[in-house]
Amino acid sequence: MKYCRFRHEGCVRYGRVEERDGEFWVVAPIESPEEDLRARLGGLRSFASMAIESAQLLPPVTPSKIVCVGRNYRDHAKEMGNEVPTEPLLFFKPSSALLASGGVVRLPKISERVDYEGELAVVIGKRVRNLGPDDDWRKVVRGYTLADDISARDLQKNDGQWTRAKGFDTFCPVGPVVSDGIDPDAGVTIETRVNGTLRQQASTRDLIFPVGELLRYITRAMTLEPGDLILTGTPAGVGALKAGDRVEISVAGLGTLRHSVETEE
Ligand code: MG
Repeated sequence: MKYCRFRHEGCVRYGRVEERDGEFWVVAPIESPEEDLRARLGGLRSFASMAIESAQLLPPVTPSKIVCVGRNYRDHAKEMGNEVPTEPLLFFKPSSALLASGGVVRLPKISERVDYEGELAVVIGKRVRNLGPDDDWRKVVRGYTLADDISARDLQKNDGQWTRAKGFDTFCPVGPVVSDGIDPDAGVTIETRVNGTLRQQASTRDLIFPVGELLRYITRAMTLEPGDLILTGTPAGVGALKAGDRVEISVAGLGTLRHSVETEE
């Protein structure tokens, strides 16, 4: 199952997405990601399929919280001069930072160094707390999407914690779709391009703490709700953004998350 969230005829809708010849198409509006799609199809014949680039996309999730994981790839921990962590390093981004695919990241005037961080993100499908070692973590996952954990690196270093540096409006581009059609444990390749140049490329097999372990760790502390978003960490190759840059983050089966970059007004 693959879906997006978009504005259609004045309403906010979810849309069922299909891949046709490598392109994503929105083929039918649906009420919610949980809906039985087949039950609705009869009443939706008037909807004209559209290429996902033509849709007025919104972030595909409305999370109660965005839980992020720092330093979850060895090569990235090393490039930042940090030790490889012995347990997951968690922080939050506010939901006010969310930005749809195709949106514009605004560089704040109070930062001189803002980086991209392409990441695989997990979308929670079921309320869960205290996920045990014998529980099947896949049952609480609705699917996966792409995110850019935009980071004001200078403020991150100076503040001592990361809330401000990671929390500016537009600092969490996410999308374009949510899909349950990939398996991060089997290894999917995540790639980040800036102005068409490949800057990050890694397999999710290289995650220090894989998705199941992250979910067990996080839910020992807090209840995860349907729609909550977990950013699993970025691989090596992060770098600074400047006004005019165009970022593309992709995983086969999840499409490409795109955003541009402009200086704050
Ligand atoms: Mg990150």
